[in-house]
Order: sequence, then C-alpha cells, then structure tokens
Amino acid sequence: MSGRLAVVGLGPGDPRYLTPEAAEALAGAQALYGYGPYLDRVPARAGQSRHASDNREEGARASAALRHAAEGSHVAVVSGGDPGVFAMAAAICQEIEAGPDSFRVLDVNFIPGITAMLAVAAKIGAPLGHDFCAISLSDNLKPWDLVERRLDAAAGAGFVIALYNPVSRARPWQFGNAVERLRRQLPAATPVVFGRAVGRPDETINVVTLAEADAAFADMATLVIVGTRETRVIARPGLTPLVYTPRATAEVSA
Ligand code: SAH
Repeated sequence: MSGRLAVVGLGPGDPRYLTPEAAEALAGAQALYGYGPYLDRVPARAGQSRHASDNREEGARASAALRHAAEGSHVAVVSGGDPGVFAMAAAICQEIEAGPDSFRVLDVNFIPGITAMLAVAAKIGAPLGHDFCAISLSDNLKPWDLVERRLDAAAGAGFVIALYNPVSRARPWQFGNAVERLRRQLPAATPVVFGRAVGRPDETINVVTLAEADAAFADMATLVIVGTRETRVIARPGLTPLVYTPRATAEVSA
C-alpha cells in the first residue's frame, strides 16, 4: 500500500462543525497524530493507533507523521479549527521541503476546517463583514516588536483584527500590551468581541468596548475580534447584541 497523509481541520469543537470530508479522512486513517486534547475529540476506532504529543512539538510531530506515512500507512494529522491557520499544515509543508525525497512523493491532502474567527463571528453577527486580518499574539515563533508593528499597521489601515492566542500562562502581559497599542489609534468605544471555547459546552461570548477590554476576559481558548471605527453594536432586549462591520466603508479614518 502506498502511503498517504491527511492534514485535517477539526473545527472549533462542536461536532456539527466537522466537515464530512474531515470525518471521512479520520475514519480512513490507520494512525492519528496530534495534540492530545484534539485527538480526544476524534471517536475511537478499532485498529487505529494514536500518537499524542505536546502542542509545542509541531515540527517533531510533523516529521513523525510523514515518516509513518512514507512507510506505507494512511496517516491523519489533526488540528483544531483549520490546519492552515496557525496550525499543522505549514509545519507539514516545512518538513516536506526540508525532508527526504520519500516525503515529496507522498499523497498529501489538506482538509479545511472552520477556523475560530469564523466560528466566533457567526455567534455574534458579522464583525468580519468588511476587510479584516488575523494576528497571533504568541511570540514563541516571532519577536514581540513585530507583533506590535503589525497591530499598529492593521489598526492604522482600518482592518478588523482577529487575535489568536491572546494569552497563555507563559505569556501573561502580551494581551494588555496589545490593547494598550490599539487604544493609541482606535476610539475607546470600538467594539471588542471575546469568544471563548466556541462550539464547546463552556462557550462564552462577551462584547465590550476597547476601553473595557481586559486580559481577564481571555484565556488560551479565546479568540478576540477588535472592530474598526465603522463596526456597530445593535442592542437587543433580552438577547445577546449583534456586532457587525458594514459592507461599505467611506474612508480609512484611523
Ligand atoms: N488552527 C486553529 C487556531 C490555532 S491557534 C483555528 O483555525 O482555529 C489557537 C488559538 O485559536 C487559541 O488561542 C484561540 O485564540 C483560538 N481558538 C481555537 N479554538 C477556539 C474556540 N473553540 N473558541 C475560541 N477560540 C478558539
């Protein structure tokens, strides 16, 4: 049998967000690789081996999965959300580029998933209704001053900004620093959405202003969406508000 590797997006957590294509790839795999909590979301199947690893070991996990597939197995590597968004797909490409010829001839498929920013946006209206960008606040793989420059540029250009990896135990101050930077360019009333554990039983959504935004609203399972000057909040009696960024923008006013 010739080897095959699927790089599979599991979506944010709700099983209804797993695409039929992803479910098929998981069911057809003889071996699954991924971060333990993501593997735990995949239903057990007889005869399928599981290889859990720490979240920080992306490169080692990617090369182990590729070696396993190159031996002739059907292997699936799983990511939360979409594998191409701050996740395993790029790590797999990097290992293929640096690795032996046997990696280049493998049948590799990237299977998209619903990324956190789309899941959070859908819970609250249409905050990403106009031009937007995504920035990871993790400085494990890039220097913090680059994050600051990107935040300044994005806010200055009038993008809605989705912030992935806002805080972690190892990075307690970065989120406060990022908010402080954004306050230099954006009005205090700019809407900010905190979507936590979206699609899971403990899901919470909070809408605050940039003036009120605080690290206390965020943890490792939170995706933050910072609006623009155009982003609006519609209060609804007894219901969560709707947040949207209109389809038409008059000017970049930041
Ligand atoms: N590949 C993933 C992102 C990995 S980075 C995706 O496409 O969604 C990890 C970050 O994603 C977390 O720190 C958080 O910011 C966000 N995230 C992942 N799952 C989430 C969920 N269910 N709800 C809210 N944010 C989530």
